[in-house]
Amino acid sequence: MLQFDTIAGLRQQLRSIRSTQSIGLVPTMGALHEGHATLLETARQENEVVVSSVFVNPVQFNNADDLARYPRTLEADYNLLDAAGCDLVFVPSVSEMYADSPLLQLNFGALETTMEGAFRPGHFNGVGIVVAKLFNIIQPDRAYFGQKDLQQVAVIRRLTKDLSFPVELIRCPTVREADGLAMSSRNRNLTATERTQATLLFRALTQAHKMLTGGHTTAQTKNAIKALFESYPAFTLEYVEIANADTLQPADEILAPGQTAICLAAHLGKVRLIDNLVF
Ligand code: AMP
Repeated sequence: MLQFDTIAGLRQQLRSIRSTQSIGLVPTMGALHEGHATLLETARQENEVVVSSVFVNPVQFNNADDLARYPRTLEADYNLLDAAGCDLVFVPSVSEMYADSPLLQLNFGALETTMEGAFRPGHFNGVGIVVAKLFNIIQPDRAYFGQKDLQQVAVIRRLTKDLSFPVELIRCPTVREADGLAMSSRNRNLTATERTQATLLFRALTQAHKMLTGGHTTAQTKNAIKALFESYPAFTLEYVEIANADTLQPADEILAPGQTAICLAAHLGKVRLIDNLVF
């Protein structure tokens, strides 16, 4: 696996590759786990060359503590990338990616006024800028994103469409621990007790799914999930939403198969966890 820390070096390497081979991109912020590995393996199957990036993008963090606490495990990341069949990894410094703080501001309208967008102001601006930069630098044929960050997928889909990037987006299913907890780099920051408690998110999603398919209204379901979280004082529920899985707009009833998303975010100790279930 080749490693690059400059935009010019990576561009130079990809210039000749691009004319004869397909390129799959897996953008990450490092602290890699099996969820990332699945994205890489899918990219490996569908492309001749797999490129990944490891970059903790400061522009998408609206909380300095969250950025400072974000886990960084670069040596282990290289091993996982190599084992998953990654050919080229791009690991730029912040100054390489942002010689100047970007003046550009992206606004995704209704896509970012709910859920993650509402609770993390500026987050999707930062996500949009870094993904647009990676698409420009790498010019992949396909790019792989996890359903774990469902709203991010919707935002990037729109970014790709609005800016006419010739990139096919692939949404990969959420990879979970054996007890249901969605894998996340942030799980490393949970204490042992919190790690056990953290299964509440998946249990809540399962309960909500059962209620909705059992005939309860979206309002009844959301209230039950709020009450469930209130009975666990270790948690602060930020939101529970039932939404259209593509537009992320709130849904009042179950939509067509594969179109309804139950989404939630909660704080457990110092860690913010998100998860969703699409059915
Ligand atoms: P991150 O490093 O957290 O920015 O994530 C990089 C990519 O991996 C994003 O597209 C995420 O949605 C995806 N991802 C993170 N966790 C998981 C998971 N548990 N299952 C599948 N994809 C994931």
